[in-house]
Amino acid sequence: MKQVKNNIRRVCIFLCILFVLLAVYGGYSITVNGNRWFSSGANTFVRSKKKDVIAGNILDRNGNFLAFNDVQTTAEGTKTTRLYHQDAAVRRAMVHVVGDREGNVNNGVESFMASSLYGFQMSLVERFSCFMRGVQRTGDNVHLTLDSRLCAMASGLFPQGKAGALVVMNYETGEMLAEISLPQYDPMNITWQAKSDPQKPFYNRAVQGLYAPGSTFKIITAASAFENYADAATRAWQCTGQLQVGDRFVTDAGTDLAAGKIVSHGQLTLQRAFQVSCNNTFAQIALSIGDQKLKKTAESFGFNDNFLFRDVVVENSAYPRENRTEREVAWTGVGQSTLTATPLHMCMVAAAVANDGVMMEPYTVMRTQAADGRQRTEAESRVYRTAMKPETAQVLKGYMRSVVQTGTGTAAQIAGVKVCGKTGSAEVDTQENTNAWFVGFLDEPAHPYAISVVVEDAGGGGSVAAPIARQVFQWMLNNGY
Ligand SMILES: [Zn+2]
Repeated sequence: MKQVKNNIRRVCIFLCILFVLLAVYGGYSITVNGNRWFSSGANTFVRSKKKDVIAGNILDRNGNFLAFNDVQTTAEGTKTTRLYHQDAAVRRAMVHVVGDREGNVNNGVESFMASSLYGFQMSLVERFSCFMRGVQRTGDNVHLTLDSRLCAMASGLFPQGKAGALVVMNYETGEMLAEISLPQYDPMNITWQAKSDPQKPFYNRAVQGLYAPGSTFKIITAASAFENYADAATRAWQCTGQLQVGDRFVTDAGTDLAAGKIVSHGQLTLQRAFQVSCNNTFAQIALSIGDQKLKKTAESFGFNDNFLFRDVVVENSAYPRENRTEREVAWTGVGQSTLTATPLHMCMVAAAVANDGVMMEPYTVMRTQAADGRQRTEAESRVYRTAMKPETAQVLKGYMRSVVQTGTGTAAQIAGVKVCGKTGSAEVDTQENTNAWFVGFLDEPAHPYAISVVVEDAGGGGSVAAPIARQVFQWMLNNGY
């Protein structure tokens, strides 16, 4: 009998410990992932509550209404219809950030900010007051940091029919001014074509698109060289145009081994290699630093981290973890191999160079406001991480400036303005099928903006993505940014 009692006691203690562990984990999860859970389509509580509350409006940074309601009162009762911006070009440009009434976009503001839009932040007094007055509750208005005119203008710069993404952020604060993904669709007219389109228009490439960063990753390889070699800036590198690694070659753009055509840069400094985007040099750097140290630098820029930003849900970037051949390591230094990153993350990489090595957390919600105009919440800037030493950022800034002055990024030049950047032409599978990249920033204290542009299946970053960045920066400068 005593034995049985003891056993029961042991089982009880064990269950108590399990319960405490579960409670601690639950508390942690809700603190960290609360909004991600709350806004999930699986939350039936939210779905049922949505019927009782008039959703708040979604506005851009200039107070333009991106999502609002049309309330019609008839003899049968009131009917509320969710509407989006009157200009179709703006609606389409903003659809991936805002979302639509059907919930086709993952983590659009319509679903991710449901707790504000549907009045879950209201106090009991406010709820009671609505109840006593017999009025339907109205949720909070959400004011975004994005400029919808800028987003619509930038969408029009992409080549016809091409998919891609563009992000603009303030590198001192993390505030996002533009976030677009192409192709787009109209939330007021969701067609079956949009649903079956192989280019997947519902997919937000700016934050969900995992691309090989291509030569834009050379920013990180160069940072790793500075952090591991005191003489990185003065050392002479040798480009033969065909670096043998194992039984294969790392070649430079323009080389065609089968045709006997070899492009080589000869002896060059790291700065020159960066300017002309020399694959040979960056493959040699990766091999001499080694996989572990290069991975460490990439991780200090946020690769392999679990991004948990307050209001932007971003796919995690990957630096391959193990079992790597020399050939894979060499191609990683160049930005190929199995590396992946989103356009937003590569914008943050450029932004960290501009901001003395400090990477700010991106955010898109500026403030939330109760229906009567009282402010509910206001965003503040937060540091995400320190990506590199300020000295490293300083040198890289000069390198990125020289890319735009005399390197592969001259198409991003603006007269009288210090534009800095790095181009990339990341291969998808064959030479013809390449994604065009440009990441960069304005090195101007009065205009602290960073950009990232990807155009899928479009060719060279210098010829396709850099001109888009130039036009976006030019528009911003002309419009008071
Ligand atoms: Zn070269």
